[in-house]
Amino acid sequence: MATLTRVVNENPRIVTLTIGDPPFATWTPGQFLRFSIRQGETWSSEYTFTISSAPEEDELRITVKAVGPFTTALQHATPETDVRVRGPYGAFCKNVEQQPRLTFIAGGIGVTPFLSVLRHWARVGTQNRMVLLWANNTVEDIIHRAELQAIAEKIDLQIVHVLWKDDAAVTACTPGRAETCRSGLLDAATIAEYADVANAEVYLCGPPQMHNLLLNNIQALGSDPARIHTEVMSSSPPPKAPPVNPPAT
Ligand SMILES: Cc1cc2nc3c(=O)[nH]c(=O)nc-3n(C[C@H](O)[C@H](O)[C@H](O)COP(=O)(O)OP(=O)(O)OC[C@H]3O[C@@H](n4cnc5c(N)ncnc54)[C@H](O)[C@@H]3O)c2cc1C
Repeated sequence: MATLTRVVNENPRIVTLTIGDPPFATWTPGQFLRFSIRQGETWSSEYTFTISSAPEEDELRITVKAVGPFTTALQHATPETDVRVRGPYGAFCKNVEQQPRLTFIAGGIGVTPFLSVLRHWARVGTQNRMVLLWANNTVEDIIHRAELQAIAEKIDLQIVHVLWKDDAAVTACTPGRAETCRSGLLDAATIAEYADVANAEVYLCGPPQMHNLLLNNIQALGSDPARIHTEVMSSSPPPKAPPVNPPAT
């Protein structure tokens, strides 16, 4: 039986849950799992969350934003609660290692697959060159900022924070660090300013509205549709494929 071993509230709306004794020990960055939690004598429905830790870390973590009843309740989860986990599923960042130029575009909590990829590369190293364009409302919504800055000093990563409700975003960045902050929407002009998507593999992860807004824009900037990879963070649909590593029986 898996249990929560640690609960860290990253901010008032985002929590990171560490899952002890999961039914699988390996995954690739960008994969997700199906999760339910004991609620007294019963169990919750299953929900989908991306694994935010790197495969090389000695723990399985998910990072969850409160958007509805279940994810809001999870913000108050407590260690030692029983959970059920199935997976890992998905292939969003499959073959990411083979791509020398990468553009990661994240909307809010859509950063979780990229957290796993970047944590992986911080540990194993990479020659790949990448830009992370990350849209949030304000600077207070940015999680793991110091960790990402430290990763950007180890690998060839440029971080661009696009803060659409923060008119003073430009003052939020630390001079000399591999990050840039700017106000406004993450739109085609902003993408073009920081990323050469026509010559990069593009990974887009965020809520459905963001995909609707950006997919055409990315193609209009010259990106080959075959080189655009997407993960929509909607309410959880059941997985279509069997787990890559079926749980041990
Ligand atoms: C492949 C995949 C990976 C995911 N990974 C993560 C992850 O790492 N972390 C995480 O926090 N969530 C992730 N999600 C989203 C997560 O599964 C949903 O947010 C969750 O199921 C919402 O459940 P709820 O009961 O709290 O809200 P619901 O009652 O299902 O939804 C409440 C309201 O919020 C809207 N909504 C639901 N999800 C989102 C969203 N993500 N963004 C904006 N609006 C939304 C709904 O349309 C609805 O209006 C992932 C989803 C998928 C499909």
